[in-house]
Amino acid sequence: MIKIENLVKRYGTNYALNDVSLEIGEGEIVGLLGPNGAGKSTMMNILTGYLAATSGVVEIGGYDIEEDPMRAKALIGFLPEQPPVYPDMTVMEYLEFVYELKGCTLEKEKHLGEILDTVKLRDVKGRLIKNLSKGYRQRVGIAQALIGNPKLIIFDEPTVGLDPKQILEVRNLIRTLGKKHTVILSTHILAEVQSVCERVIIINRGKIIADDRTENIATTLENGMTIEISVVGPRRDVARELEGVVGARKVHDTGERDADAYIFRVESKPMVDIRKNLFYMCAKKSWPILAMKTVGSDLETVFIRLVENADAQGV
Ligand code: ADP
Ligand code: MG
Repeated sequence: MIKIENLVKRYGTNYALNDVSLEIGEGEIVGLLGPNGAGKSTMMNILTGYLAATSGVVEIGGYDIEEDPMRAKALIGFLPEQPPVYPDMTVMEYLEFVYELKGCTLEKEKHLGEILDTVKLRDVKGRLIKNLSKGYRQRVGIAQALIGNPKLIIFDEPTVGLDPKQILEVRNLIRTLGKKHTVILSTHILAEVQSVCERVIIINRGKIIADDRTENIATTLENGMTIEISVVGPRRDVARELEGVVGARKVHDTGERDADAYIFRVESKPMVDIRKNLFYMCAKKSWPILAMKTVGSDLETVFIRLVENADAQGV
């Protein structure tokens, strides 16, 4: 669906995007995660043809965004960081305006009606946009992105400025859209990626520093993870066998109990997920595992570590 090759965007001597390459397949829900100033909006504005790149190639559905912008843009619905809504229009007037602007050929009343239902705007369709709350205005922004039923939907920080209830509503809506569309959303909020996206691309200072399935980022990318495990069995034997598990680096006997189990902390070597190996070893020994959890490798920890590492290496 999207192919980006060696994308560079330079402002003077500052690189907003510094040699970014990636591909996104049809049907994926991808989170572009990064701190403020990382280059997220720049990337989305280039993807959608709103901004020209300094160099590099962007293809949407096989069409080059610079050479074939009409065809490429026809595949995209975009919600920019500042939604382009006109305060003095009613919701319906605005959606009809965008419908004409996009040269949409779908049956108008039916199509706009479906969108009103999807984003739950039917009740306010006759209201002036300037009289709507921020949450409703954001939905109007989302609605305009859906006109023409684009295959690819790009949302730049879609939940910024919304209250917690509105945030959950927008996330649910994005999840629903993800069933039928390819979706990319940018955010600086980790929980958002975890709750909505299957894949996360972490960007920092214009470079991609991680790209993986959301669940993998939190586990294997870490610099080795720590597993807390409660095992029922002879204490010293359990400790020794845990040390022998493939991928284990260090075992710490916490001295704590969990019912009749002993609680151990097992540190793994970098880039391995030892949870299955721990299970197989205990199963072989017939030592019941009462609990197993990952300690300190939530996405937040990983994210901070990745950004710090990237900064330290000057990339
Ligand atoms: P994000 O959306 O991740 O917060 P941006 O893509 O907006 O980041 O910005 C990336 C970098 O590019 C920042 O350092 C920002 O200051 C710089 N930048 C963005 N737009 C411009 C511009 N029009 N002129 C100069 N620098 C810019
Ligand atoms: Mg931004």
